[in-house]
Amino acid sequence: MTHAPVPPGATIGFLGGGQLGRMTAMAARTLGYEVRVLDPERDCPARYLANETITAPWDDADAAARLATGCAAVTLEIEQIPRASLEAAAKLAPLSPSVEAVYVVQDRARQKAWLGSNGFPLGPFRIVGDATTTGDAVATLGKSIVKSAMGGYDGRGQVRVTRPDEGRAAFESLRAPVCVVEGFLDIATELSVLVARRADGVAVAYPTSRNVHTGGVLTWAVTPSGADASLESQAQALALGIGEQLGIVGLLAVELFVLQDGSLLVNELAPRPHNTFHHSERAHPTSQFEQLVRAICHLPLGAVDVVRPAAIHNLLGELWQRGAPDFGKALAVPGVRVHLYGKKESRPGRKMGHLSADGATPEEALDRVLSAYRALTI
Ligand code: AMP
Repeated sequence: MTHAPVPPGATIGFLGGGQLGRMTAMAARTLGYEVRVLDPERDCPARYLANETITAPWDDADAAARLATGCAAVTLEIEQIPRASLEAAAKLAPLSPSVEAVYVVQDRARQKAWLGSNGFPLGPFRIVGDATTTGDAVATLGKSIVKSAMGGYDGRGQVRVTRPDEGRAAFESLRAPVCVVEGFLDIATELSVLVARRADGVAVAYPTSRNVHTGGVLTWAVTPSGADASLESQAQALALGIGEQLGIVGLLAVELFVLQDGSLLVNELAPRPHNTFHHSERAHPTSQFEQLVRAICHLPLGAVDVVRPAAIHNLLGELWQRGAPDFGKALAVPGVRVHLYGKKESRPGRKMGHLSADGATPEEALDRVLSAYRALTI
């Protein structure tokens, strides 16, 4: 099957106008595309980049159809969109990634089962649908994390437990019909790989990013990760294999755990741009946002080698507790850029922006974002 390139001037539809949609919309605009966005929030971050914004909830399939009408390509920045809305959009314009791929990824339990049945390496887990079974799973797995199958992100919808009674209480408190209980792993390093893939199967994997999370939320990420050549190629091959098996068109972020013994496990997947690759705007010839536009428009994929080490540090809502931070302090650090998402309201844990820095080495890039971040907190 041939895939004609979508020419600049055509309209790209985005399911989701948060920061990922906003940064992808910027890249689409740079390439000369028109942008239409659907988001439940009227003042969503992508609004000011879009030619048109539709404000509607995710389960409004008619709004998804309106978004897709007249678009040459539709993509998404969030996977938790009801299947009926995805199907409504896909009937009217090519949706990348496909309904099937998003359906597999959007539910943690379904995603785990799919990864396991396709032979991808996972830590021990149980899929549970009631408190008793959750308690039994904790009795078997020991120290665990109970995660709701749908809707949880950035550490939300997750409870860490040690005893079966805590597991039962966690299931009740999460109020989710299905949860995944994961044995608590002894993680040495967290890595991620970003795969970009076109409809004709041409794919590239970015070099791994090394990531540090606090309370389940990404704190900082740096590239190159420092993984040795064998781990690096193992991680990239794993991510490319998952992308191919899922038939991803667009981007697939694969979060990985490296255990103390050096073995590699898949943590989770995201079929869209990813927080851990925000440094791609600094480190690679092609940012993840531009790459997504290229992939879904059947254009040549861009180079993904590291031309300059880079790092990012997230800016969460708590930093705004005493008013807007003095960003001049961060910008005074060499190599640092401030990226703000234009969110009007700050809440603890809400991603408001990030800092990025380049450096002669990954250590220098990381030092720079860390010291710029510290300067904002003083
Ligand atoms: P997740 O939202 O599932 O990616 O989890 C967020 C973060 O929590 C991960 O990046 C890890 O730092 C930590 N985490 C998640 N699952 C586990 C696990 N099974 N064992 C240990 N730490 C975990």
